[in-house]
Amino acid sequence: MTLLTQMHLEPQTGAALSIASGQLLRIIDPLGEQVSDLVSFARDDTSEWLSSGRTIDYANTIYLTTGHTLYSNRSRPMWTIIRDTVGRHDFLLTPCSPDTFRILYGTTGHHPSCFENLAAALAPFGIAPNAIPTTLNVFMNVEIAPLGELSIRAPRSRAGDYLLLRAEMDMIVGVTACSAELSNNGSFKPIDVELLSSEPQRDAGATRASV
Ligand SMILES: [Zn+2]
Repeated sequence: MTLLTQMHLEPQTGAALSIASGQLLRIIDPLGEQVSDLVSFARDDTSEWLSSGRTIDYANTIYLTTGHTLYSNRSRPMWTIIRDTVGRHDFLLTPCSPDTFRILYGTTGHHPSCFENLAAALAPFGIAPNAIPTTLNVFMNVEIAPLGELSIRAPRSRAGDYLLLRAEMDMIVGVTACSAELSNNGSFKPIDVELLSSEPQRDAGATRASV
């Protein structure tokens, strides 16, 4: 694999990037216990987006990990999970938003949020805030009680853990370092993102003509 681009997301921020089919995206938790919300849209038609519902339907589990395919709202593969060093992520809950903090936590005044950070990062690609669906909440640890009650626990990720995804189509990707206290065990940390080519790193010596 060859590293094409590296991004360091400061705590409570977001970014967007373009990825080509066959390239890889690595979401890294550099310090541990930090969630990263991820969305993606087909590059040639952004009304096709990464779908929680379709993905859970076809995987037949809410616990997505190595080997699972993540589908679009049009049931086309968008991503394949190539390697997952944590094994617990959430694809049920929406990105934290100003309304999340107001309704769930009674926050008054402005609170940074994944929704606002995604909206700002995706705007230059022509993607409107209303188009942002349920996010793949990488490293988010949601426990489900037998009667269906959800509880948000500390992420299981430790420093250096990562999720490696292969793009199955050309896409615009939004990604964050999550802003919600409860999701990140009470503190806000950075997230590192790597865009990789699946081609091996070219060795200068190996390209020499063999004459
Ligand atoms: Zn968040």
